[in-house]
Amino acid sequence: HAKSAGRNSYKFYTADLNARAREILEIESQLRYALDRDEFVLHYQPQVDLRTGEIIGAEALIRWQHPDLGLLGPVRFIEVAEERGFIVQIGNWVIQEACRQLAQWRRQGLPRISLAVNLSTLQFKQQDLAVHLQRALSAHGLVGSDLDVEVTESVIMDDVETTIHTIDRIKSMGLQLSIDDFGTGYSSLSYLKRFKADKLKIDRSFVRDIPMDADDSAIARAIINMAKNLNMTVIAEGVETIEQWKFLDREGCHAAQGYLLAKPVPAKEFEKLLEKGVLLPERLTSSA
Ligand code: C2E
Ligand code: MG
Ligand code: MG
Ligand code: MG
Repeated sequence: HAKSAGRNSYKFYTADLNARAREILEIESQLRYALDRDEFVLHYQPQVDLRTGEIIGAEALIRWQHPDLGLLGPVRFIEVAEERGFIVQIGNWVIQEACRQLAQWRRQGLPRISLAVNLSTLQFKQQDLAVHLQRALSAHGLVGSDLDVEVTESVIMDDVETTIHTIDRIKSMGLQLSIDDFGTGYSSLSYLKRFKADKLKIDRSFVRDIPMDADDSAIARAIINMAKNLNMTVIAEGVETIEQWKFLDREGCHAAQGYLLAKPVPAKEFEKLLEKGVLLPERLTSSA
Protein backbone atom coordinates (compact mmCIF):
# COMPACT_ATOMS: atom_id res chain seq x y z
CA HIS A 1 0.00 0.00 0.00
CA ALA A 2 2.53 2.53 1.18
CA LYS A 3 4.87 1.60 -1.63
CA SER A 4 2.38 1.96 -4.46
CA ALA A 5 1.06 5.23 -3.07
CA GLY A 6 4.52 6.69 -3.56
CA ARG A 7 6.06 9.99 -2.66
CA ASN A 8 2.94 12.07 -2.22
CA SER A 9 1.36 9.93 0.46
CA TYR A 10 4.70 9.83 2.24
CA LYS A 11 4.65 13.62 2.31
CA PHE A 12 1.11 13.62 3.68
CA TYR A 13 2.12 11.10 6.27
CA THR A 14 5.01 13.21 7.54
CA ALA A 15 2.81 16.30 7.45
CA ASP A 16 0.34 14.48 9.72
CA LEU A 17 3.13 13.34 12.00
CA ASN A 18 4.47 16.86 12.26
CA ALA A 19 1.03 18.16 13.07
CA ARG A 20 0.59 15.63 15.87
CA ALA A 21 4.14 16.28 17.11
CA ARG A 22 3.40 20.00 17.21
CA GLU A 23 0.15 19.34 19.01
CA ILE A 24 1.91 17.21 21.63
CA LEU A 25 4.43 19.99 22.21
CA GLU A 26 1.60 22.48 22.53
CA ILE A 27 -0.20 20.18 24.96
CA GLU A 28 2.91 19.50 27.01
CA SER A 29 3.72 23.17 27.38
CA GLN A 30 0.22 24.10 28.57
CA LEU A 31 -0.69 21.04 30.65
CA ARG A 32 1.23 22.14 33.74
CA TYR A 33 -0.87 25.31 33.96
CA ALA A 34 -4.23 23.78 33.17
CA LEU A 35 -5.22 22.90 36.75
CA ASP A 36 -4.30 26.33 38.13
CA ARG A 37 -6.17 28.00 35.31
CA ASP A 38 -9.19 25.81 36.00
CA GLU A 39 -9.37 24.64 32.39
CA PHE A 40 -10.60 21.08 32.96
CA VAL A 41 -14.26 20.24 32.87
CA LEU A 42 -16.23 17.04 33.35
CA HIS A 43 -18.92 15.89 30.98
CA TYR A 44 -21.42 13.26 32.05
CA GLN A 45 -22.88 10.33 30.14
CA PRO A 46 -25.85 8.44 31.58
CA GLN A 47 -25.78 4.71 32.30
CA VAL A 48 -29.23 3.32 31.79
CA ASP A 49 -31.09 0.21 32.96
CA LEU A 50 -31.73 -1.79 29.78
CA ARG A 51 -35.13 -3.01 30.89
CA THR A 52 -36.68 0.15 32.28
CA GLY A 53 -34.64 2.94 30.69
CA GLU A 54 -34.03 4.39 34.14
CA ILE A 55 -30.83 6.38 34.59
CA ILE A 56 -28.92 4.45 37.23
CA GLY A 57 -25.64 6.27 37.05
CA ALA A 58 -23.33 8.40 34.97
CA GLU A 59 -19.73 8.31 33.88
CA ALA A 60 -17.68 11.45 34.38
CA LEU A 61 -15.42 12.08 31.35
CA ILE A 62 -12.76 14.75 31.41
CA ARG A 63 -12.31 17.48 28.79
CA TRP A 64 -9.76 20.27 28.59
CA GLN A 65 -10.58 23.78 27.44
CA HIS A 66 -7.16 24.43 25.92
CA PRO A 67 -6.32 28.13 25.47
CA ASP A 68 -5.40 27.72 21.79
CA LEU A 69 -6.66 24.34 20.65
CA GLY A 70 -10.24 24.49 21.95
CA LEU A 71 -12.11 21.77 23.84
CA LEU A 72 -9.96 18.64 23.83
CA GLY A 73 -11.13 15.09 24.54
CA PRO A 74 -9.06 12.85 26.82
CA VAL A 75 -7.45 10.84 24.02
CA ARG A 76 -5.63 14.03 23.04
CA PHE A 77 -3.97 14.63 26.43
CA ILE A 78 -4.33 11.82 29.02
CA GLU A 79 -1.36 9.87 27.70
CA VAL A 80 0.81 12.97 27.77
CA ALA A 81 -0.40 13.65 31.31
CA GLU A 82 0.62 10.14 32.33
CA GLU A 83 4.05 10.42 30.69
CA ARG A 84 4.79 13.84 32.13
CA GLY A 85 3.68 13.00 35.67
CA PHE A 86 0.55 15.16 35.79
CA ILE A 87 -2.03 12.40 35.88
CA VAL A 88 -2.18 11.98 39.66
CA GLN A 89 -2.98 15.66 40.24
CA ILE A 90 -5.45 15.72 37.37
CA GLY A 91 -7.03 12.50 38.62
CA ASN A 92 -7.41 13.96 42.09
CA TRP A 93 -9.15 16.97 40.61
CA VAL A 94 -11.54 14.61 38.75
CA ILE A 95 -12.41 12.85 42.03
CA GLN A 96 -13.00 16.16 43.83
CA GLU A 97 -15.07 17.66 41.03
CA ALA A 98 -17.20 14.53 40.59
CA CYS A 99 -17.99 14.52 44.32
CA ARG A 100 -18.76 18.24 44.33
CA GLN A 101 -21.12 17.91 41.38
CA LEU A 102 -22.90 14.83 42.72
CA ALA A 103 -23.47 16.51 46.10
CA GLN A 104 -24.88 19.55 44.32
CA TRP A 105 -27.33 17.42 42.32
CA ARG A 106 -28.45 15.76 45.55
CA ARG A 107 -29.07 19.16 47.14
CA GLN A 108 -31.12 20.14 44.10
CA GLY A 109 -33.31 17.12 44.79
CA LEU A 110 -32.46 15.34 41.55
CA PRO A 111 -32.83 11.53 41.44
CA ARG A 112 -30.08 9.69 43.31
CA ILE A 113 -27.48 8.17 41.07
CA SER A 114 -23.90 7.06 41.52
CA LEU A 115 -21.07 8.60 39.53
CA ALA A 116 -18.29 6.65 37.86
CA VAL A 117 -14.80 8.11 37.53
CA ASN A 118 -11.98 6.73 35.39
CA LEU A 119 -8.74 6.10 37.21
CA SER A 120 -5.36 5.74 35.57
CA THR A 121 -3.20 2.76 36.49
CA LEU A 122 -0.63 5.25 37.78
CA GLN A 123 -3.09 6.53 40.38
CA PHE A 124 -3.10 3.06 41.94
CA LYS A 125 0.62 3.29 42.53
CA GLN A 126 -0.06 6.16 44.91
CA GLN A 127 -0.19 5.05 48.52
CA ASP A 128 -2.83 7.63 49.32
CA LEU A 129 -5.43 7.06 46.59
CA ALA A 130 -7.90 5.57 49.09
CA VAL A 131 -7.26 8.45 51.51
CA HIS A 132 -7.87 10.93 48.75
CA LEU A 133 -11.14 9.25 47.75
CA GLN A 134 -12.29 9.19 51.37
CA ARG A 135 -11.47 12.87 51.88
CA ALA A 136 -13.30 13.92 48.74
CA LEU A 137 -16.37 11.88 49.69
CA SER A 138 -16.44 13.18 53.27
CA ALA A 139 -15.87 16.78 52.22
CA HIS A 140 -19.11 16.62 50.23
CA GLY A 141 -21.16 14.52 52.60
CA LEU A 142 -21.04 11.46 50.36
CA VAL A 143 -20.39 7.80 51.10
CA GLY A 144 -18.41 5.13 49.24
CA SER A 145 -21.42 3.69 47.44
CA ASP A 146 -21.93 7.04 45.71
CA LEU A 147 -18.83 6.47 43.55
CA ASP A 148 -17.76 3.82 41.09
CA VAL A 149 -14.17 3.59 39.97
CA GLU A 150 -13.50 2.42 36.44
CA VAL A 151 -10.18 0.78 35.73
CA THR A 152 -8.92 -1.07 32.69
CA GLU A 153 -7.60 -4.60 32.81
CA SER A 154 -4.05 -3.25 32.92
CA VAL A 155 -4.54 -2.22 36.54
CA ILE A 156 -5.55 -5.76 37.38
CA MET A 157 -2.47 -7.18 35.75
CA ASP A 158 -0.33 -4.72 37.61
CA ASP A 159 -0.61 -6.83 40.71
CA VAL A 160 2.01 -5.17 42.83
CA GLU A 161 1.30 -5.06 46.56
CA THR A 162 0.22 -1.42 46.49
CA THR A 163 -2.41 -2.00 43.84
CA ILE A 164 -4.00 -5.00 45.55
CA HIS A 165 -3.95 -3.23 48.90
CA THR A 166 -5.47 -0.07 47.44
CA ILE A 167 -8.23 -1.93 45.62
CA ASP A 168 -9.13 -3.82 48.80
CA ARG A 169 -9.30 -0.60 50.75
CA ILE A 170 -11.39 1.18 48.15
CA LYS A 171 -13.82 -1.72 48.06
CA SER A 172 -14.05 -1.86 51.85
CA MET A 173 -15.04 1.82 51.75
CA GLY A 174 -18.06 0.78 49.70
CA LEU A 175 -17.02 2.00 46.27
CA GLN A 176 -17.91 -0.18 43.31
CA LEU A 177 -15.12 -1.38 41.06
CA SER A 178 -15.81 -1.54 37.32
CA ILE A 179 -13.59 -3.13 34.72
CA ASP A 180 -13.57 -0.78 31.73
CA ASP A 181 -13.09 -1.76 28.06
CA PHE A 182 -13.45 -5.41 29.04
CA GLY A 183 -12.11 -7.84 26.46
CA THR A 184 -9.42 -5.59 25.03
CA GLY A 185 -6.73 -6.18 27.66
CA TYR A 186 -4.77 -9.21 28.74
CA SER A 187 -6.27 -10.06 32.08
CA SER A 188 -6.92 -13.70 32.79
CA LEU A 189 -10.29 -14.68 34.14
CA SER A 190 -8.82 -15.76 37.46
CA TYR A 191 -7.66 -12.18 38.09
CA LEU A 192 -11.22 -10.98 37.65
CA LYS A 193 -12.34 -13.25 40.44
CA ARG A 194 -9.46 -12.26 42.67
CA PHE A 195 -10.15 -8.54 42.34
CA LYS A 196 -13.85 -8.95 43.03
CA ALA A 197 -14.94 -6.40 40.46
CA ASP A 198 -18.59 -5.38 40.79
CA LYS A 199 -19.16 -4.38 37.19
CA LEU A 200 -17.91 -5.32 33.75
CA LYS A 201 -18.13 -2.89 30.88
CA ILE A 202 -18.21 -4.64 27.50
CA ASP A 203 -15.87 -2.73 25.23
CA ARG A 204 -17.44 -0.73 22.43
CA SER A 205 -15.55 -2.74 19.80
CA PHE A 206 -17.64 -5.84 20.62
CA VAL A 207 -20.89 -3.89 20.62
CA ARG A 208 -20.41 -2.08 17.32
CA ASP A 209 -21.31 -4.91 14.96
CA ILE A 210 -23.94 -6.78 16.96
CA PRO A 211 -26.34 -8.30 16.10
CA MET A 212 -25.15 -8.62 12.45
CA ASP A 213 -21.70 -10.00 13.19
CA ALA A 214 -21.99 -13.55 14.50
CA ASP A 215 -18.58 -13.58 16.18
CA ASP A 216 -19.08 -10.33 18.04
CA SER A 217 -22.56 -11.43 19.04
CA ALA A 218 -21.11 -14.65 20.47
CA ILE A 219 -18.43 -12.70 22.35
CA ALA A 220 -20.93 -10.22 23.78
CA ARG A 221 -23.22 -13.09 24.81
CA ALA A 222 -20.32 -14.94 26.47
CA ILE A 223 -19.21 -11.85 28.42
CA ILE A 224 -22.77 -11.23 29.62
CA ASN A 225 -23.20 -14.82 30.78
CA MET A 226 -19.83 -14.96 32.47
CA ALA A 227 -20.38 -11.70 34.31
CA LYS A 228 -23.80 -12.77 35.50
CA ASN A 229 -22.47 -16.09 36.73
CA LEU A 230 -19.82 -14.20 38.69
CA ASN A 231 -22.56 -11.95 40.12
CA MET A 232 -21.28 -8.90 38.33
CA THR A 233 -23.35 -6.17 36.72
CA VAL A 234 -22.78 -5.93 32.95
CA ILE A 235 -22.78 -2.62 31.11
CA ALA A 236 -22.51 -2.38 27.33
CA GLU A 237 -20.48 0.58 26.08
CA GLY A 238 -21.04 2.41 22.83
CA VAL A 239 -24.66 1.42 22.22
CA GLU A 240 -25.71 3.39 19.14
CA THR A 241 -28.62 1.49 17.59
CA ILE A 242 -31.99 0.07 18.59
CA GLU A 243 -30.88 -3.30 17.20
CA GLN A 244 -27.90 -3.39 19.58
CA TRP A 245 -30.16 -2.41 22.47
CA LYS A 246 -32.67 -5.16 21.67
CA PHE A 247 -29.97 -7.79 21.32
CA LEU A 248 -28.39 -6.79 24.63
CA ASP A 249 -31.77 -6.76 26.38
CA ARG A 250 -32.59 -10.21 24.98
CA GLU A 251 -29.26 -11.55 26.22
CA GLY A 252 -29.87 -10.22 29.72
CA CYS A 253 -27.32 -7.40 29.79
CA HIS A 254 -28.15 -5.11 32.72
CA ALA A 255 -27.24 -1.64 31.54
CA ALA A 256 -26.16 0.41 28.56
CA GLN A 257 -24.26 3.55 27.81
CA GLY A 258 -24.03 5.12 24.38
CA TYR A 259 -25.01 7.73 21.85
CA LEU A 260 -28.39 6.04 21.34
CA LEU A 261 -29.33 7.31 24.80
CA ALA A 262 -27.11 10.35 25.19
CA LYS A 263 -23.66 11.62 24.39
CA PRO A 264 -21.52 12.87 27.27
CA VAL A 265 -22.83 16.37 28.08
CA PRO A 266 -21.93 19.26 30.41
CA ALA A 267 -23.42 19.19 33.92
CA LYS A 268 -26.23 21.64 33.13
CA GLU A 269 -27.45 19.51 30.23
CA PHE A 270 -27.11 16.34 32.24
CA GLU A 271 -29.47 17.80 34.83
CA LYS A 272 -32.21 17.91 32.21
CA LEU A 273 -31.67 14.21 31.50
CA LEU A 274 -31.77 13.46 35.23
CA GLU A 275 -35.02 15.37 35.61
CA LYS A 276 -36.56 13.11 32.98
CA GLY A 277 -35.11 10.14 34.86
CA VAL A 278 -35.86 7.66 32.09
CA LEU A 279 -34.27 7.38 28.65
CA LEU A 280 -36.01 4.86 26.45
CA PRO A 281 -34.55 4.45 22.97
CA GLU A 282 -37.98 3.90 21.36
CA ARG A 283 -39.14 7.23 22.66
CA LEU A 284 -35.97 9.01 21.64
CA THR A 285 -36.23 7.81 18.07
CA SER A 286 -39.98 8.23 17.60
CA SER A 287 -39.84 11.82 18.82
CA ALA A 288 -36.93 12.63 16.49
P1 C2E B 1 -13.90 5.10 28.48
O1 C2E B 1 -13.76 5.17 29.94
O2 C2E B 1 -14.07 3.76 27.87
O3 C2E B 1 -15.12 6.07 28.12
C1 C2E B 1 -16.05 5.83 27.11
C2 C2E B 1 -15.70 6.61 25.86
O4 C2E B 1 -16.58 6.20 24.81
C3 C2E B 1 -15.90 8.12 26.01
O5 C2E B 1 -14.94 8.77 25.19
C4 C2E B 1 -17.30 8.31 25.43
O6 C2E B 1 -17.52 9.61 24.95
C5 C2E B 1 -17.28 7.32 24.29
N1 C2E B 1 -18.61 6.87 23.92
C6 C2E B 1 -19.69 6.70 24.71
N2 C2E B 1 -20.74 6.24 24.02
C7 C2E B 1 -20.34 6.12 22.74
C8 C2E B 1 -20.99 5.70 21.53
O7 C2E B 1 -22.17 5.31 21.50
N3 C2E B 1 -20.23 5.69 20.39
C9 C2E B 1 -18.93 6.09 20.39
N4 C2E B 1 -18.28 6.06 19.23
N5 C2E B 1 -18.29 6.49 21.51
C10 C2E B 1 -18.98 6.51 22.67
P2 C2E B 1 -14.05 9.97 25.73
O8 C2E B 1 -14.87 10.87 26.60
O9 C2E B 1 -13.36 10.56 24.56
O10 C2E B 1 -13.01 9.25 26.67
C11 C2E B 1 -12.05 8.38 26.14
C12 C2E B 1 -11.28 7.69 27.24
O11 C2E B 1 -10.49 8.61 27.98
C13 C2E B 1 -12.15 7.01 28.27
O12 C2E B 1 -12.63 5.78 27.77
C14 C2E B 1 -11.18 6.87 29.41
O13 C2E B 1 -10.36 5.74 29.22
C15 C2E B 1 -10.34 8.11 29.29
N6 C2E B 1 -10.80 9.11 30.28
C16 C2E B 1 -11.88 9.91 30.24
N7 C2E B 1 -11.97 10.68 31.35
C17 C2E B 1 -10.90 10.34 32.12
C18 C2E B 1 -10.41 10.76 33.41
O14 C2E B 1 -11.02 11.59 34.10
N8 C2E B 1 -9.26 10.18 33.86
C19 C2E B 1 -8.60 9.24 33.14
N9 C2E B 1 -7.47 8.70 33.67
N10 C2E B 1 -9.02 8.79 31.95
C20 C2E B 1 -10.15 9.35 31.43
MG1 MG C 1 -14.70 4.50 31.54
MG1 MG D 1 -14.63 2.02 28.14
MG1 MG E 1 -11.46 3.41 26.75
